[in-house]
Amino acid sequence: MARTPLIAGNWKMNIDHQQATVLVQKLDWTLRDKKHDFEAVEVCVVPPFTDLRSVQTLIDGDKLSLILGAQDLSPHDEGAYTGDISGVFLRKLGVSYVLVGHSERREGHDETDEVVAAKVKAAFRNDLVPLLCVGESLEVRQAGEQVAHVDAQIVAAFEGLSAAQAATVVVAYEPIWAIGTGEVATPDDAQEVCGAIRAKLAELYDEATADAVRVLYGGSVKSGNVASIMAQPDVDGALVGGASLDPVEFAAICRYQ
Ligand code: PEP
Repeated sequence: MARTPLIAGNWKMNIDHQQATVLVQKLDWTLRDKKHDFEAVEVCVVPPFTDLRSVQTLIDGDKLSLILGAQDLSPHDEGAYTGDISGVFLRKLGVSYVLVGHSERREGHDETDEVVAAKVKAAFRNDLVPLLCVGESLEVRQAGEQVAHVDAQIVAAFEGLSAAQAATVVVAYEPIWAIGTGEVATPDDAQEVCGAIRAKLAELYDEATADAVRVLYGGSVKSGNVASIMAQPDVDGALVGGASLDPVEFAAICRYQ
């Protein structure tokens, strides 16, 4: 089945709402100048929460084809959860994708597989597409246990999802040792785990569901290495951190062919 590639830029805790409007306009202008086909390759920006309103206003007002993503959401929809952000609010702001289980949240905020699974369900309750991040530490990779580790994260995060829901999840395989380190996985490393994720989904659901799921690679993706990663049969896009802060570089990544 033909899967529409997705390139998503995770700005992390960079770029305030004023800088965001400049970045988004430059990105849109650069992509249009290069005649980017937004239907053939989706482009998503994932700013900090405080930038979402400004970016959404630009996307709506100027009819930009960029898709809006958020970096996290609460497992709850409302209540006494100071500092958390509800999926209800994100959906109202025009957010389409939401990162769930990024390693910086799993590690820095003790997010367990159970919390990640609850966030995936919160995304579905609010018509948001979960962009589920999975990936192993250097220790796990050195022990050769990356596939078993990622398989366990997949099983936990998809728990209780119907096949119809599962088919719409976007999974990002992000080896932790490659995030923000300049250390990129080889195309074969990326294919090994992305292929294993699809095989696990076929086992949990069926071939058609597994074939529908988009699996991205993330970890020090740049314009110079994206083409060889995107050439892998089970890689359907990229989740880009640092390089997404430069609109010209990010636009080049979006045009990986
Ligand atoms: C990320 O934060 O998801 C990421 C992949 O970061 P970087 O591209 O900087 O490695």
